[in-house]
Amino acid sequence: MRDDNFLKENNARHLWHPMAHPGDQQKNPPRIITKAEGVRITDIDEHSVVDAVGGLWCVNLGYSNDVVKEAISKQLYDLPYYSAFAGTTNPTAIEASLAVREYFADDGMGRVFFTSGGSDSVETCLRLARQYHRLRGEPTRTKFLSLKKGYHGTHFGGASVNGNNRFRTKYEPLLPGCFHLPSPYTYRNPFNERDGAALAQAIACAMEDEIAFQGANTIAALIMEPIQGAGGVIVPDETFMPLMRDICDRHGILLISDEVITGFGRTGHGSGARHWGVKPDMMSTAKGITSGYFPVGAAMFSEAVADVFESSGEEGGIYHGYTYSAHPVGSAAVVATLAETKRLNTQANAAERGTQLYEGVLGLAEKYDFIGDVRGGHGLMTGIELVSDSAAKTPMDGATMTRIQDATYEAGAMVRIGMHNILMSPPLTITADEVDVIINALDAGFSVV
Ligand code: PMP
Repeated sequence: MRDDNFLKENNARHLWHPMAHPGDQQKNPPRIITKAEGVRITDIDEHSVVDAVGGLWCVNLGYSNDVVKEAISKQLYDLPYYSAFAGTTNPTAIEASLAVREYFADDGMGRVFFTSGGSDSVETCLRLARQYHRLRGEPTRTKFLSLKKGYHGTHFGGASVNGNNRFRTKYEPLLPGCFHLPSPYTYRNPFNERDGAALAQAIACAMEDEIAFQGANTIAALIMEPIQGAGGVIVPDETFMPLMRDICDRHGILLISDEVITGFGRTGHGSGARHWGVKPDMMSTAKGITSGYFPVGAAMFSEAVADVFESSGEEGGIYHGYTYSAHPVGSAAVVATLAETKRLNTQANAAERGTQLYEGVLGLAEKYDFIGDVRGGHGLMTGIELVSDSAAKTPMDGATMTRIQDATYEAGAMVRIGMHNILMSPPLTITADEVDVIINALDAGFSVV
């Protein structure tokens, strides 16, 4: 391998990183990760840590799943690529569609459209939601509702429904006709409501109000994450998603469940919608669908939505898609990942270890008063919101967040920083001892403040 300095210098000179300032690469060179095994990653200095980020909420099976690796490798030799645009398909993509459909059968999903990742899946749902209403004779339904603090990727559609200015302002003007409701975030919300069930009701009222204002016949869909991930792991009250479903039903609005993080067992259930007992009309997925080993996403559609497309004439044609939709190698990764997800029953482990991680962090919150809010307890998604003044809830400054992250890393765990939140989503295969490593490393990280 090239020496460390060569890599660091050329990274700064030539490689632009997502969600990073190009100028920062020289000042704060990123860690160079060279290998991984189990739930551990190792950097170029041979420092090995437990990866509490799971890559980027995606390496659900850990880094050493040979079944998935072998399936990818075999497919590369059999058929490394062929297009699935009209006129051709491949056997592995067909197998993958069966596997994904079976996985989401309990969510009522009947059809799958493969993409190259989460943003693509979101875009596919948004576009097909508009087409669906057009096919049903309601072409005025073009607007989208979403939640503040939601994250739906970085395409123009996804950015337009995103609920954080950071991902929006620099790229405006975005898609017109996108409106944002308050997030079910009990720690801070415009109603000053700390009770989750009461907050869910308040947001439901705000949604009814917005629908009345816009006109229900102008709204295509509500897109939401069952548990908001990048926005800080915001866990709603159990009544929240069912309330959203009910309002959508009453007004002919489609419900798109963005399951890019919550799909495939992360919440302790097969999907986030299932976790709350809701059946959406569409789902966007990615990440855990291949455990991050290959870039694949899938947009899913209910039988009822599918019927509208399939029973329409020429207008039902889907003039949307990606060169890598139904990629044979990606499809091989999907088939193997879903089989392993089932065989290892990772969702059960996610539920158990998620509770352990959440309770461990709650223990730390007793010790450190700059821990303002701890969110989780529903599978392996945990968020810790840090504040420099707990009464005023002043967000912790960036330099301190970085110091905590660095000290946690030195002490044995990689955690992710999102604004003034620490975000954790380790592989679903993690053991109890490895969860303890994360908690102890966080303790060491917090002790530097
Ligand atoms: N939706 C959600 C809920 C996500 O968390 C993400 C990515 N973190 C995306 C969409 C976008 O996915 P990708 O980065 O694969 O495009």
